[in-house]
Amino acid sequence: MNRWVARLTAALLTLAGFLTASAQPPPPGKAVIELLDVGQGDAILIRSPEGKAALVDAGPSRAVVDRLRETGLQSLDLVVVTHHHADHYGGMLEVIRQFPPRYFLATESRRSTGLYVRLLEAVAASDITPVYPWHDRPRTIHLGSVLLTVLPQPPEDLQEENENSIGLRVSYGDLHVLLTGDSQRRARRYWLQNCPDLIADCQILKLAHHGSHNGTDPLWLDVVRPRVAIVSLGAGNPYGHPHPQVLQLLAEYRIPLLRTDQRGTIRIETDGRRTDITGQRPAFTLASSSLPSRRNTQTRPLADGPRLNLNTASRRQLERILGLNPATSAAIIRNRPFRSLDELEDLDLFTPDQLTRIGSRTVVR
Ligand SMILES: [Zn+2]
Repeated sequence: MNRWVARLTAALLTLAGFLTASAQPPPPGKAVIELLDVGQGDAILIRSPEGKAALVDAGPSRAVVDRLRETGLQSLDLVVVTHHHADHYGGMLEVIRQFPPRYFLATESRRSTGLYVRLLEAVAASDITPVYPWHDRPRTIHLGSVLLTVLPQPPEDLQEENENSIGLRVSYGDLHVLLTGDSQRRARRYWLQNCPDLIADCQILKLAHHGSHNGTDPLWLDVVRPRVAIVSLGAGNPYGHPHPQVLQLLAEYRIPLLRTDQRGTIRIETDGRRTDITGQRPAFTLASSSLPSRRNTQTRPLADGPRLNLNTASRRQLERILGLNPATSAAIIRNRPFRSLDELEDLDLFTPDQLTRIGSRTVVR
């Protein structure tokens, strides 16, 4: 099978053409990180040169087990559930049955479902040791010679489970990869304030929240400074992931994006100095010279009439002028006051088009 390969060196990222490769364990002296193609969800397999393996999330279904078998995986040392949403733990029960790990890393977020409870019961009934992130300092895990740094865990967010995502910096030699589940603005702010060094200078960034508009912002890219972004999502997903604003932002920063919906499983292979990234299917657009120029200043479209103050508008105004339904207008009223229109994104209620429309017709005072 033809595979696309990007080569990441200390100096530059180049496209090296098409290579033939197959799912296989790491070659001697190399670590491999794979963004498994599990549809709309996350499942990231990390393997060390010594044969140690960790799985970060298990996708929405037991299909992840087939993907793991395709990689030739024999056993797992650690599994991680970044947060309690089923597109991240849907296949985990089957994974721990078929590849019983030694450790289970998850948060103590109170959000739960029947399936998550069964997963916890299965862990409790086994020899698997549960471990948790620390709130006040990072926690390091040695996966053979691959270092996993668990970022300090933000305080629990009772409204937005995405904000309870575990953050991981994966390091092997000079290569650093940042995985932050579906984290949004609040978690990003916490990490930027509490552990900026652990965020900074990761050559590869997994976009949080499947490329949603609330998973990435300019400040984040300014600190992380990724050379390549990767994202796991399903083709034709109903959420519109990846969102156009994120694609535009990456284009402005000239950061190429590799997507599992386009390339299937994405494999990062590194000896700690040189890194090759291959996709299961060939890429079709990744010439960095074809990307738009550096960031420009964006202007919001001007409103035709006077703008509505989002912090004082009545429910009727929100529905009539902005065309919102009763549920979303009630959510706006419940979450007031807003300090900026950007905070609307945190509600996770609106499509990118709706956000643009609201932004063009409202102010925050
Ligand atoms: Zn998710």
